Amino acid sequence: MNFDLSPDQQQLQARVREFAQAEVAPVAEKLDRECLFPTELFQKLGALGVTAIPFKEEHGGMGLGVFDAVLALEEVARADQSLAVSAMVSMATGLTLQRFGSKALIDQWLPEIVTGQKICAIAGTEPNAGSDTAGFKTRARRVGNDRWSINGEKAFITNAGTDISLFTLLLTVSSPPEAAKKDFTLFLVPNDAKGYTRGEKYGKLGWHSSDTRPLHFDDCEVAGDNVVGEPHKGRWVLHKGYQAARLFLAACSLGLAQACLDHAVKYAQERQAFGGPIGRLQLVQEMVAEIALLVDTARLVTYRAAWGVDQGRDDLKALSMAKYHATEAGTKCADLAIQVHGGWGYMDDCPVSRYYRDNRICTIGDGSSQIQKLLIARECGLDVSFT
Ligand SMILES: Cc1cc2nc3c(=O)[nH]c(=O)nc-3n(C[C@H](O)[C@H](O)[C@H](O)COP(=O)(O)OP(=O)(O)OC[C@H]3O[C@@H](n4cnc5c(N)ncnc54)[C@H](O)[C@@H]3O)c2cc1C
Repeated sequence: MNFDLSPDQQQLQARVREFAQAEVAPVAEKLDRECLFPTELFQKLGALGVTAIPFKEEHGGMGLGVFDAVLALEEVARADQSLAVSAMVSMATGLTLQRFGSKALIDQWLPEIVTGQKICAIAGTEPNAGSDTAGFKTRARRVGNDRWSINGEKAFITNAGTDISLFTLLLTVSSPPEAAKKDFTLFLVPNDAKGYTRGEKYGKLGWHSSDTRPLHFDDCEVAGDNVVGEPHKGRWVLHKGYQAARLFLAACSLGLAQACLDHAVKYAQERQAFGGPIGRLQLVQEMVAEIALLVDTARLVTYRAAWGVDQGRDDLKALSMAKYHATEAGTKCADLAIQVHGGWGYMDDCPVSRYYRDNRICTIGDGSSQIQKLLIARECGLDVSFT
């Protein structure tokens, strides 16, 4: 077993780290304060090749794996998790399109997502249902000659309302209201589709520079050609296609956890109390050691799961363990890093207080920690019937 990165992976990691520390970290606090999506910075990330990493070369991608994308996202999140999340949602959505979209849809819509000059969104959650996808109400019905009309509302959607947003992959209920069992269909809805509007940005605890809005669909008509995957198989398509998002979010928490360690060690060495640096006090050392342990275990489970995906393994337990452990570790690390910083850690200007706010959503989105535990228990053989 070899735990070392290949020379190419080391090079990729170093390139993204250099960019993220030079161009992203210094502006992260300002972006957080201004609550603006940083279009130019995002496009620079694209120009560096980050958004192209896991896509096929025939679509303009780098032809690398999910593991390489995880390495890059970890480095971006170490500088600013909010920016990393905007990238990861677009990349995971693009991967869903690459895997299940028709050639015509891919040729028309994927290239600008791959280059990072545009961004895309994926919309499942609704005001009344998130984890419980069977509760979704946004409905698509066939009208005329192979067209669909969509009505409903989505909530908390990332990336749909920026000035470079291109399209949203939208999960709809496509069975008739009277059907005993709901079927779902996934559509690519262009941002300029008639009847598709985006609501005002939410005010939120963290991820301030990432765009989050409700979406409205009022008799929004799309062509049958815009179905991604087969009609009425949308939930399965989303489940399979968007799996990388769990790992990408794990990578975002991992990068943030590493940043917590960086800051905690530095501060423990600099801050003086009782005649010397607080880093010589054993209870402070214990907190730093705990952060280091969490970073390392989060990295191990995330890398293992990403490696498995690139080997073509369908290891749901590994995916859920990575998502659960890395995102929970991110929150614990931020909490401990604040403790190491004392009162200064609680101030807006101290990066670790932003890390604490930013990471809090990671244990909720893309399958909450509770849902991940249910999936793990199911993979262990228990009878888990929550869907
Ligand atoms: C900033 C932000 C960005 C987001 N971006 C997107 C996006 O781009 N696209 C998108 O589709 N969604 C997005 N979401 C929505 C997010 O994925 C949902 O919030 C998440 O899936 C949880 O759904 P919910 O909020 O409806 O909570 P609920 O499903 O109502 O859950 C509430 C609580 O109950 C628990 N729970 C639910 N069911 C069970 C169960 N069976 N057993 C045990 N516990 C359970 C949950 O773990 C949670 O603690 C975003 C949310 C935020 C805040």
